[in-house]
Amino acid sequence: MSSKTRVVIVGAGHNGLVAAGYLARAGLNVKVLERRNVIGGAAVTEEWFPGYKISTCSYVCHILQKKVIDDLQLRKYGFHVYPIDPGRIHPFPNGKIIKLWHDDERTSENIRLISSHDADAWLDWADFWHRAVRILSDYYLTPPPSMEQLTERFRAENEEELLETLLTVPLKYIINHYFESDEVKAIVSTGAFDMGDISAPGSAYITALYRYSAYREDTENYGIVRGGMGGITQSMAKSAQAHGASIKTDAEVKLILTDNHEVTGVELVNGEVFEADIVMSNADPKRTFLKLLDRKDVGSNFLGDIKSLKTDSASAKFLCSMKELPDFSAYLGLEYDPKNLAMVCICPSLEHSQKSWIDSKNGIVSNTPIIQVQIPSVYDKTVAPEGHHVLSMWVYFVPSHVKDGSWADVKQEFGEWLITEVCKYAPNFRDAIIDWTVLTPEDIEDRIGLTDGNIRHLDMVPQQMMSKRPLSGWSDYQTPVKGLYLCGSGTHLGGEVTGAPGHNSAHVVLEKLGLVV
Ligand SMILES: Cc1cc2nc3c(=O)[nH]c(=O)nc-3n(C[C@H](O)[C@H](O)[C@H](O)COP(=O)(O)OP(=O)(O)OC[C@H]3O[C@@H](n4cnc5c(N)ncnc54)[C@H](O)[C@@H]3O)c2cc1C
Repeated sequence: MSSKTRVVIVGAGHNGLVAAGYLARAGLNVKVLERRNVIGGAAVTEEWFPGYKISTCSYVCHILQKKVIDDLQLRKYGFHVYPIDPGRIHPFPNGKIIKLWHDDERTSENIRLISSHDADAWLDWADFWHRAVRILSDYYLTPPPSMEQLTERFRAENEEELLETLLTVPLKYIINHYFESDEVKAIVSTGAFDMGDISAPGSAYITALYRYSAYREDTENYGIVRGGMGGITQSMAKSAQAHGASIKTDAEVKLILTDNHEVTGVELVNGEVFEADIVMSNADPKRTFLKLLDRKDVGSNFLGDIKSLKTDSASAKFLCSMKELPDFSAYLGLEYDPKNLAMVCICPSLEHSQKSWIDSKNGIVSNTPIIQVQIPSVYDKTVAPEGHHVLSMWVYFVPSHVKDGSWADVKQEFGEWLITEVCKYAPNFRDAIIDWTVLTPEDIEDRIGLTDGNIRHLDMVPQQMMSKRPLSGWSDYQTPVKGLYLCGSGTHLGGEVTGAPGHNSAHVVLEKLGLVV
């Protein structure tokens, strides 16, 4: 194959666009096909209400890799982050509040108002995660290491015990070991992300992989993206196009075409065919293998393994336009800087977050979900008319599918309930709202194409991470079909807007073609 190798990328999520950017730079003939009429996948900004632009799904840039930003020159193509500090504030029903700053010492002093024991413990806690993240982050932009390689690396750094703790001690025990106050325990319990079950062994390992956000060095890339998260994917698209890639929207792939277990191209739902030497799928693994391929191409054992992958963890999104800011003065005083409201986390206790996980497993819409409120317009004036604001809530955990009834039955009531919850902290919130809507996991699946509304394509559990993502033996972005690669969040490094799967898969392709130096 020559540098004019034809590559079709199924899906213009951020990882598909990152892969396109690298491959186009190497001179390949790259075409990206996106089923929606907008690019970006789960990193997209849409005008939900006339004049109000909101990040439909992902809302904070916290782990997008600096190398990807620099290699693809995303700033040149419009990417801009407003770094936020405090990164989050946590108000509690008892009137207390904790602010999380980038500076651990500053956060520690803030915590001292609640517990001096926890203020001191905060610095030890931070050190624990810094040590873990320093080693793990070396593997973000490489094919994943095996557990033996990882163990060897931690051993070489005299950190074997740390790895053992991460892999075997549940996050909840670590939290209880460090902290005594309900408030600090609540805050740190929200960091378990998709793991959900903070009582499970391995929950600390996943947290370490993803706590990178809180402990990253390049704080200039942590924050709110100008124009919403679509600002990231728009810049990625422009970067790839500037190097020759073409991007076609309203182009849903029906079938990945093969001949004798080798890709030959794709066929769209409208019957159009695009021939290709290489196909990369940005769709999640279940969608790719169970819907876009003929069963005979991969074999029933492989398909069985794909079907068994866990996609249990789900979340919902609440989006609204506002004529004024919610009033958090009961917590912040009368003269507070509105920038404090960029990110507000509502989670009263560790028990609260655990219950939402258990409820969601049982198909119940919990009355204790973790609510991450974001008001990007306190930084970014481009997303709402002057003086007005947009607000979103990322709400987890909720069931993918409701056990008794359906999401459609409870959606409106759920939205009303969320408004009432926020009013407990900011009493004018209901009056401030102009318009609102809720996206349930089923809505997210329909709109973005994520199986079970799973925001990271597959659950982020130890048995589906690193060299086991998506399956053991298939973590190198290749598949049983020759010429077909995966490039989305169902591969290492996993979900979130990292650019890592796109970067890594593109480099595997380039290496195969002999184009990597
Ligand atoms: C509600 C929510 C909140 C989140 N919050 C954050 C956050 O704050 N920060 C963060 O970093 N991450 C967050 N995430 C996670 C993050 O957004 C995703 O993990 C990431 O964007 C996935 O990127 P991707 O490129 O791998 O896949 P996707 O974004 O899923 O892109 C896949 C693309 O493929 C397209 N596609 C699928 N099938 C076909 C087909 N047959 N033909 C053509 N196109 C197809 C889809 O339409 C989609 O555009 C959130 C996600 C959600 C849903």
